[in-house]
Formats: sequence, C-alpha cells, structure tokens
Amino acid sequence: MGDLLQELEIKRTINACGIYTDLGGSRLSPGVIDAMLDVNRDFVQLGPLLDETGRWIAETFKAESARVTPGAAAAIMLGTAACLAGTDGDRSEQLPNTAGMKANVLIQAAHRYKYDRQVSLTGATLAEVGTENGAREDQFCEALERQDVAMILHPAHLDGKAGTLPLEKVVEIARRYHVPVFVDAAYMVYPVEMIGSYIARGADLVAISSKYFGGPNAGGFIMGKRHLVEAVSNVHFTAYESGSVLKFGRPLKMDRQTIVAVVVALDEWLNADHDERYADYRRKVDRLHDQLSGVPGLSLEPKCFTMDERFVDEPANALLITVDEAKANRSAASVADALFDQKPYIATIQEGDRIGVVMDVLNDDEVTIIGERIRSVLLA
Ligand SMILES: *Cc1c(COP(=O)(O)O)cnc(C)c1O
Repeated sequence: MGDLLQELEIKRTINACGIYTDLGGSRLSPGVIDAMLDVNRDFVQLGPLLDETGRWIAETFKAESARVTPGAAAAIMLGTAACLAGTDGDRSEQLPNTAGMKANVLIQAAHRYKYDRQVSLTGATLAEVGTENGAREDQFCEALERQDVAMILHPAHLDGKAGTLPLEKVVEIARRYHVPVFVDAAYMVYPVEMIGSYIARGADLVAISSKYFGGPNAGGFIMGKRHLVEAVSNVHFTAYESGSVLKFGRPLKMDRQTIVAVVVALDEWLNADHDERYADYRRKVDRLHDQLSGVPGLSLEPKCFTMDERFVDEPANALLITVDEAKANRSAASVADALFDQKPYIATIQEGDRIGVVMDVLNDDEVTIIGERIRSVLLA
C-alpha cells in the first residue's frame, strides 16, 4: 500500500473468517481488476450499462429481467420501493411517504432476520404473519385480505424452517392475491445452480450479493419479473439529474467499475472449477494441520464452516482448533485475541473453546503466517 495508507495506519488484516462485510467482503481476482481498469479508461452511459449487464444476468438465470445493484441489502430496499411505486415516477419521488400506496410487506414471524430492516427504510411497514413457531395458510390469506400488501419477503436461508410455509406454498397463495414474492438469496451462490433456482420456483424478485461470488463488497443484483425490474429502474439512481423526477434510490448509486466488476466476477464464478476450489481449501487445511500438530492442548479437525456460520463435516474449508485451557495454559478467547490484537492482525472465528481458521479468502503465505503465530502464542 502507498505512503498515505501507511500514514493512516490502515489495519491490514489476515482474514481467516471468510466473507464478511466488515472485513471487506471478497478478494477481487486479477480478471475482475483488469475489467475495472479497462472500463475506467472510458466513460460509459450508466443507464444502458445497467440495461445490458442486466440482460446478460437475466439470460444466464432464465429470469425475465435483472439489474445490478450496490449489494443485496440495496436490492431489498430497491425491490421493496419498486413494489410500492411501480413505474410511476411521482411515487418514486414521493417515497418514503407511502400515502396512496399499498405499503405493507408481509414476512413470516419465524423468518424475521437482520436484513428485513431494509424494507422499512422505504417507508413500507413490515407486518408479521403467524408466530415465531410458524405460520399457516389461513393466516397468510387473512393478512392478504385485510391489509394493503405490496410484497412478501421470503429469506431463502430460512426457507423450510420448521413450522413455516415453504416458498412454493407462499408463491401459490401470493399469486391468488396478485402480490409479488421477494426472495433474499444473498448467499445462495453455490452450487451455482442454486442462483437461478428461486426464479424457477416462482419467486417474482430475487436478490443476490456479489460479495459471496468474488465480486465487490458493495455489489449484487436483483432479477425477476420484467415489470418489477422496470419498477426497480424507476426507483434506482440513474436519470436523477437529467430526468424530471427526484428518484427515491439516488443514494444507492454505483460506479461503472463496480457494475462491470459484478458481472465479470459472476462470469468467472459460473465458469470456475469449484471442485478445485474446495481441493485448494483442503490442501490449506491439511498444511495448517501439519504446522500445528504437536502443539500441547490443541485438537485439530477439518470442518466445513457454512454460510449460516455453523461448523459441519463436509466439504472442509476450515480447520477447527479446540483449545484445552488446562493443557495449553490459555483459553481459546485469549489466543484469538492475541491473534487479532498484534501485527499482522489475524481475524478468526472464535466461539467457546474453539477457534476456526476459514480458508475461503486466505492465500498460502497467510496460512503459513497464521500457523507460525498460533505456535508462537502458545509456545511462548
Ligand atoms: C450479506 C447479506 C445481505 C446483504 O448483502 P450486501 O450485498 O452486503 O448488501 C443480505 N442478506 C443476507 C442473507 C446476507 O448474508
């Protein structure tokens, strides 16, 4: 990094956690960086760039239409605003005042999650169906009959949760009332067939985050029904200065470099050898395992750290280190703190007596440094 960055004491951190927004998301590939440099040389018209990149995404996933957005959280916000305002420019300008619009968004009570907050930012009201134990069809129908419903939000990672109505059932009910179903599938990017699966299962809008497929931290896309993606364009940032309405989504603007990076990263992801990607994680896990074997008080297990932050058996992308405090003379938390607090800063997943070293965005040199640091902390 340059002199200024050094002066600012930027905390370069070795990321052994995986994909986290606070750690910067993913690492962009040389191909993605090249594409960003390439589009940086010339100016392009952003409206047509969004149309063209959207067309490619839509064709790729057999959706009617799509649009690159500054992330999945932005896609939830823009998709909700689109369902409120439609293609009416005055309504786009009127938001977050929802007077005269259908402005309730339904979510199953057992589906409440951190990102549902983006719905409320548009001025819409999030209304729960059922209880935290689940929801029934008659409860959905009653809500749809009694309330002015603009959209149903369905988080893909909670689909099928015990007691809740699955996506297919929600879609079937929603169609009867002509209400669109929005699926937040932000991290449903592997196996790659999963990306398009929600469209095939009847979702009207789907959000994906590019941080999970090697794209920019502040990138992603929304895809779905043509009239709804057209409504997304009506609330998205372009034509604010040049157009006649002050569109709602103006702060959610994007650089041409980011828009291009999203589609180039997506193309690379779809064409990547994912078996080789996992084989590479496994090699790193085994190397770290070798480096740490024999350190007193540690037990070492290859594990898979999942997108919903659980350690399961397969396929391995992490080394799970259990620290026996009595034998190691240190707790797992104090080891993790020692890794995180001194240069080079190393961020790990730490819970209870365990430390997870996740390989997803680590290179070989970093794995070696992590092994040496853990040894030096424990053998000091
Ligand atoms: C990360 C994430 C988001 C937000 O995506 P961004 O692209 O970071 O805005 C939304 N939903 C889920 C489930 C996520 O994991």
